[in-house]
Amino acid sequence: MQCIFTVDVEDWFHILDVPSTPPLSQWGSLPSRVEKNFMRLMDIFAEKDARVTCFFLGWVAEKFPHLVREAEAQGHEIASHGYAHRLVYEMSREEFLADATKSRKLLEDVSGGAVLGYRSSGFSVTEKTPWFFDALMEAGYRYDSSVFPARREHGGLEGASLAPYRLNGGSRELIEFPITVTRIFGRPVCFFGGGYLRLFPYFLIRRMTRRVLAEGRPVVFYVHPREIDPEHPRLPMGWVRGFKSYVNLHTTEEKLRRLMREFEPASFRSFMGAHAPAICAA
Ligand SMILES: [Zn+2]
Repeated sequence: MQCIFTVDVEDWFHILDVPSTPPLSQWGSLPSRVEKNFMRLMDIFAEKDARVTCFFLGWVAEKFPHLVREAEAQGHEIASHGYAHRLVYEMSREEFLADATKSRKLLEDVSGGAVLGYRSSGFSVTEKTPWFFDALMEAGYRYDSSVFPARREHGGLEGASLAPYRLNGGSRELIEFPITVTRIFGRPVCFFGGGYLRLFPYFLIRRMTRRVLAEGRPVVFYVHPREIDPEHPRLPMGWVRGFKSYVNLHTTEEKLRRLMREFEPASFRSFMGAHAPAICAA
């Protein structure tokens, strides 16, 4: 069983749901760090000869198309993080469909290849968005990695399957790869991305990775380019969000290197090539 390494390619000012997050109209005038940080991430992957899945924000791909082309040229999978980084549960089905379709077409135009995968901002699929999977299939996607199968700040789908599963939508089909969690005292806990990866010590992340793999599930790791850049500008926010957003930034890069040394890295596309037939219906 492999580990799937993923990057949500966005900038330091794309932290969600805090009052100081700038609106899209201001993004273009802010000092960007995504270019430098993403290129460094690709160097880290190249050291380990790893091919990963890059969920590009459509806005980033439009502004820095060479990042998409460089990732494609290095053999990484190009996938979509939507266009404007809006929470799914704050959009109507029509708005979501337009955003997801726009980002897929844009990424396909820039990369020259098919885009199969989607990840929502903030894993914001909830019980309030029952149309999500159907709309995603309509937008032309073949797999998704947006379900956080536990309670969390931006929604989450408590009680959802922890293992990947297949969804049927008439003539279309979608594979869902939930964000990896494992049970601690009966409660699902994530150790494998973003603030969780930064917060927990490496020995614990490694132990939990081995445990999930032993259960026959892949582990989905996720990082943001800003997380290997401890010097990036901070958005003003309350101390709880500030802690979650910025704790242990200096540890991400070393954890990533060690994980790729100890576990076999894969992209979603390559994982599906090897394992898709074994994934069962929901
Ligand atoms: Zn995001």
